[in-house]
Amino acid sequence: MKISDILSRSAKPFPSIEIVPPLKGITQAELIASVEPFMEFRPPYINVTCHRDEVEFRPALDGTYTRHLVRRRVSETAVCSVIQSHFHTEVVPHLIGAGMTREGMENQLQDLKFMGIENVLALRGDCLAGEKRFTPEPGGYRWASQLVSDIRRFEREQDASFCIGVGAYPEKHFEAPNLEMDIDNLKKKVDAGADYIITQMFFDNRVFYAFRERCRAAGITVPIIPGLKPLSTARQVETLPEAFSLDIPVELASELARHASDKAACYEIGARWCAAQCADLLRNGVPAVHFYTMGRADNIVGILRACF
Ligand code: FAD
Repeated sequence: MKISDILSRSAKPFPSIEIVPPLKGITQAELIASVEPFMEFRPPYINVTCHRDEVEFRPALDGTYTRHLVRRRVSETAVCSVIQSHFHTEVVPHLIGAGMTREGMENQLQDLKFMGIENVLALRGDCLAGEKRFTPEPGGYRWASQLVSDIRRFEREQDASFCIGVGAYPEKHFEAPNLEMDIDNLKKKVDAGADYIITQMFFDNRVFYAFRERCRAAGITVPIIPGLKPLSTARQVETLPEAFSLDIPVELASELARHASDKAACYEIGARWCAAQCADLLRNGVPAVHFYTMGRADNIVGILRACF
């Protein structure tokens, strides 16, 4: 079933779960065991992230180094296949334009069609480590809106049909000059054919509500699903703003700083904050809440138990 149908038919908000493909070497049984705890909450679908190859420099015998692209994780398509067949649930593979040619993307879409997958999250992706500016492959995708248009073209030519989600940034994408232009660019993705939006994580719901209002004022009418992640360590107060270009409210940051040496306390503070965010979002008319699990189930399972 398409996510757009799930969204329009669902009588109440539901949890949406995003997992990261495991590093190579993990078994199917281990992957299944890592997803199993979420099934108690009957998520109608599971998102699976996609990761660019990483650059590795290997020493040669003559003392120089050669550059190699390496893939550290199992592919999202393989992970989707296991989840689909074991749990009989919908899967939403993330597709990234970065590092991808149009021919490569078409091959991937053919595989998804073959697997009966009807949902994708279309994203641009990021630079490789060490690159200063995003550079698409020759003839590839500079912006996610181009990927959305290309998926719609593929559907027309190949008799396929996908529900397409896209990403959005309540605190602005780090490359955009201002939030207004970023929202204009978000509208281009919707105009190109996106069916719904999932936001980047945020830690202050007022930021999300203001963003949602601005999107509606800009003429974006598709469902907007907020994204949440519980903090679990004091160190994330330093790493997350840099990695995701977001703010952490002073109350949360200072409470974590006060308990920085107490791991259990930090974990509890992050989970409590996220559960309060989730409960507030559910009271304020969101269609679903998306959880970035990032390889952890325990804290999110606790939040789901408290809120759904
Ligand atoms: P775009 O929508 O293309 O936007 C990128 C920048 O270009 C923005 O600043 C935008 O304002 C600007 N822009 C867009 N269109 C135009 C235009 N026509 N003219 C001028 N400027 C324009 N990354 C991964 O690698 N793998 C994942 O699985 C993954 N999952 C994600 C899931 C979610 C829900 C979100 C929110 C992000 C995810 N990302 C993932 C991160 C994402 O790839 C990066 O944030 C990336 O930098 C931007 O992707 P985008 O699709 O939002 O890009």
